[in-house]
Amino acid sequence: MSRKRLGSNNRQKALFKVSRLHERIANIRKNYHWKLAHNLCDWAGMIFAESLNLKALAKGMLGKHCLDAGWGQFLQILEQCCFKRGVFFLKVDAKKTSQICPNCLTETGKKLLSERVHSCHHCGYTTDRDVAAAQVVCIRGLAAVGHTVDPERSRRVKMLSEGKFIGIPTTEESPAL
Ligand SMILES: [Zn+2]
Repeated sequence: MSRKRLGSNNRQKALFKVSRLHERIANIRKNYHWKLAHNLCDWAGMIFAESLNLKALAKGMLGKHCLDAGWGQFLQILEQCCFKRGVFFLKVDAKKTSQICPNCLTETGKKLLSERVHSCHHCGYTTDRDVAAAQVVCIRGLAAVGHTVDPERSRRVKMLSEGKFIGIPTTEESPAL
């Protein structure tokens, strides 16, 4: 379009082509989001999502990529889809989800984006960093709906549902091994 003369017919045609292309991309993305949401609903009775600060993320380092993937739209679509399909949906606090060990709930500190593995110095639990963060989200979600899976953890999980930071070991708390 930029190579066409200003105000010309050809420019108008090119503009039309560009906008059609953008619409097509948007449709494909939306279609994919719905498919993904249905797919998740197929095998889950409850879905917990991190309540992300999308505005702050968009300003950050990976902002363009976050916007491009349309996380905000996906979360909206996922919520709608869960509602239609009768799947429980809840957003949970995203604070430090990638800095807490899902096995012993110890704070393991910030990870660089290049660190793809979570390895707990406290209990030795090792898994993919995104899996670990998802497990923390799951624990928080379950705590929020009043489920506690592991009775050993129930006290700490209760702390978590009360909005306190989890995983800061107190003196009376022996490390979970
Ligand atoms: Zn651990």
